[in-house]
Formats: sequence, structure tokens, C-alpha cells
Amino acid sequence: MGYVTGPPGTPTVLLYAHHDVQPPGPDSEWKTPPFAPTERDGRLYGRGAADDKAGVLAHVAALRAFDGKPPVGVVVFIEGEEEAGSERLRGYLEGEGDRLRCDAVVVADGGNWRVGTPALTTTLRGVVACVVEVRVLDKAVHSGGFGGPLPDALTTLAPSLRSVAPQPTMPGSTSTNVSPASSSRPAKTATHRLFALPALNRPGTSGASAFQASSEACPVPS
Ligand SMILES: [Zn+2]
Repeated sequence: MGYVTGPPGTPTVLLYAHHDVQPPGPDSEWKTPPFAPTERDGRLYGRGAADDKAGVLAHVAALRAFDGKPPVGVVVFIEGEEEAGSERLRGYLEGEGDRLRCDAVVVADGGNWRVGTPALTTTLRGVVACVVEVRVLDKAVHSGGFGGPLPDALTTLAPSLRSVAPQPTMPGSTSTNVSPASSSRPAKTATHRLFALPALNRPGTSGASAFQASSEACPVPS
């Protein structure tokens, strides 16, 4: 966290970015070592160079553009656990809220669809996370004997998830092209779906077959 005091009476802008990164994955997927920043064709490659070290440097560049004396007050807040879900952020905000007080927040953690074309992200989804648990039987039965006619938790859950997952409903949304680089209508629709419509992600599913339904994954409440 850092501060630059603005002229008296001016608002305060908080500049946010994060310095932590995702795991690099296998080295074989990299043309150059992930943790050795490497310039190729005028672009810098390395783990987290874009997400979100570029955001950190964008804020630094903004401050430098004003020679360190911006016309507003500035709070710089660089987070270190964004990629891990910001578990401690809430507590930090509750403890340090006064030091982070501001009139506007600039989040530098988005993308540009085209090199050289600046982009301003105006909508992002929020996140609601929940655990869905389906119980179908109150005791274990053998899948060979009962697995067909009796309900299985995962098989029951799958169509339910699909029924609540937002489907493409925008006019002209027949294309699966997710690149908005062209200005064609389907691409525009894909952009809208990417950034403006609700989505449902199912990061993990686990469960037992009917055979184990009550003994492991679906314990009977006491
Ligand atoms: Zn990021």
C-alpha cells in the first residue's frame, strides 16, 4: 500500500492491481523460462507479465506521468492473493478501511483485445459461490441391482445444473466465436455474453454411485 497526497480539496483515487500469479504449468509449454522475463518481438513474456504485473506497472506509469505529483490524492493498493481467492482481503479491508478510503477505484486487472488499442472494462461479473449437495437415498443399495431405476445423485444433479445455467439467448447468438476482434454481430454478441451476462461454472463434482449413496457421499442426517 502506498499514498500520494493530493492538493487540498481534491478527491482520492485508489489504484488496485495484484502481484501474485497463477502456477506456471509445465516448462514444456513455455518458449522461454516463465520466471525469466524475456522480450520477444517487442513484447515481454514471463509468468504473470500480463496478469497482473502489467497492471502494477500501468499504475506506476500513471504516477510517473504526473512526475509523482498527481492532481488528486492517490492510494496504491497492490494485493498478493488475488489468484487464490483473496481470502484475507475482507479482514484486511475491515482493519485498514480508513487507510483505503477513496472516492474512486481504478482496477488495472483486465485485458485488451487488440495490441495497441486501449480498453476500459465497464462491467464484470460478481461471484456467488455455493456448494450444492444432492441426497437421493437414505441407505446404500447395490448399483448392479438398483443403479438404473433408482436415482443417482450426480445423474440427478446434471440436468438440474443445466436448467439453471444461462443459455445463449441474445438475438443472433449462433456463433461460438468468442473473439470480439472483428466487428461482426456474432462477435459482439459473444462479447456481451463474455462480460455482461450471468454465467454458471461448476468447478468440481464428486459423489457416490447409488451403490454407495448413503454410506459415503450422502450420509443420513442424524
Ligand atoms: Zn488478475
